[in-house]
This record gives sequence, structure tokens and C-alpha cells, in this order.
Amino acid sequence: MDKEMNYGSDYKYIPTTSIGSGVGIEVLPDLYSHTIQIVNICLVGKPGENDFVLVDAGMPNSSDEIISVIEERFGEISRPKAIILTHGHFDHVGAIIELVDHWEIPVYAHELEMPFLTGQMAYPEPDPTVEGGMVSKMSPMFPNEPINLGNHIKTLPSDGSVPHMPDFRWIHTPGHAPGHVSLFRKSDRALIAGDAFITVKQEYLYKVLTQEHEISGPPRYLTTDWAAAKNSVIKLAELKPAVAITGHGTPMTGELLTNSLEKLVTEFDTIAIPDYGKYVDENLH
Ligand SMILES: [Zn+2]
Ligand SMILES: [Zn+2]
Repeated sequence: MDKEMNYGSDYKYIPTTSIGSGVGIEVLPDLYSHTIQIVNICLVGKPGENDFVLVDAGMPNSSDEIISVIEERFGEISRPKAIILTHGHFDHVGAIIELVDHWEIPVYAHELEMPFLTGQMAYPEPDPTVEGGMVSKMSPMFPNEPINLGNHIKTLPSDGSVPHMPDFRWIHTPGHAPGHVSLFRKSDRALIAGDAFITVKQEYLYKVLTQEHEISGPPRYLTTDWAAAKNSVIKLAELKPAVAITGHGTPMTGELLTNSLEKLVTEFDTIAIPDYGKYVDENLH
């Protein structure tokens, strides 16, 4: 393995799953979402064209699964042109070092995520006291120490373009993480939202397990700036996406997406912001 890359000191396999684990959904001919345990990776590009990108890099220990999903869809020994990260949380970079080693491809993220991806700074500790269920309570076991991708990590271009995804633009959607981005394609209003909003209540083990389809704010135990998170959801709702792939939960489309996003914006304080938790500012309620 490339010696200049390493995971954080608290990196480990997380024993958690959902009924969606291992399931892939073709949302559009060139947009494919696959669930690794409890998180989604996204493949952007048409099968047969061998010009595609991987968005996010799954849970720890999932590189074999990600490689086989990709080879099944794009053919043996096919490899993405790049990996684009919505943000650097452990469940979005879990297999990234093995993948970069295997494919020798660049990784792109927002510049504000760089400290967490170059070994300089840990994310704030997950908050087990936040309002929510079992997943919140088990969140202290989630890795938050920085990983180091060395010179394989690059900053997203400042002009909003996304390398190897010519029709998409990145949109800064901070709150859940400082350099969180979402990816949007205007022509068909396709949105890759990351964890800016999600379609399952990620704090509750039962809802994660059953993947109950329900709009939600970003996962609570790792969200530190709720005012910014709210503005990010407002920004995404204004784009009026027709289809959304989120970091957690199943894809949401059409009227359900429009209505759910509208509801999330108007009722953000009650749906998304927890009643209590160490990153909750009393003034927000
Ligand atoms: Zn996250
Ligand atoms: Zn996540």
C-alpha cells in the first residue's frame, strides 16, 4: 500500500447494516446508487462508455464490494476517472485508500475538507447525547480522526465545475461538514445531495435497518452547524431537483421529492434540528 496514505488512528469496521445493503438502483441511465451497509455510493456515467466517476467511497472494509459493483456495471478492469467526495466523514471515505491504490486515480473535495483528508485535523467528536435513537448513542465508535490521502487529494475547481462530470456543478452545502458539497445537473435537475439532507432518519437503528423512506436533515450526531445546514437545504430546495440521490436512504424523485423538500425547509427547526445536543444552539429554536 502507498505509504504516503493512511487512515485515521481510530479507523475500524463498523458492524451495522440495513435491508438496502448490497442493493443497487439505476436512478437514471447514467446515475447509479449502491448501498454499502448504511451509506450510498454513486456512479455517474453510462455503462459501455467507460467514462465514469465514483462519488463517495463507502464504509471501512468495503473496497472489494465497490470494485465488484463497478466491474459488474462497467466491465472487468474498468476504473473511474476520479473519486469525488461530498465530504470526508468516515462512512464516505471508508474504502478510499484501497480504491486509490487499486486504480491510481485522483480524489477531489472542497478545500474546507482538506484538513480532514490530509491528516491535519480531526472532525469534532460525534455527539451521543443528541436527540435521537440507538445510532446516535453508538456514534462514539465512529471514526473521526483525519485520514491522509497525501498528494492524491485535490481541491475542487473554484469555478464550480466538477472534474470528469462536465454537466454537473458543485454547490457548497456546509453545516453537516464545513466543506460539504452537493452535485447538481441543470439539464435534468439531477441532484447528488450527500448528507446535506437524507431520506432516512439516520439516528434511529430501526429506521436505518428498514430504510423507512422519509425526508430528514443531515445525520444529527455529526452535524455541528445547524444554521448553515438549514441554509444549505434552502439552497438545494431552490434548485427544484427532479431526482435526488442522498448519502443515506433510498433515492427520492418527482412530486414526493418536491413536497418533502418544501416541508423540510418550512419545518426545518422541528424535523431536522434536534431538541437537544452539544452542537445545538438554543437560539435556533
Ligand atoms: Zn456525513
Ligand atoms: Zn454519511
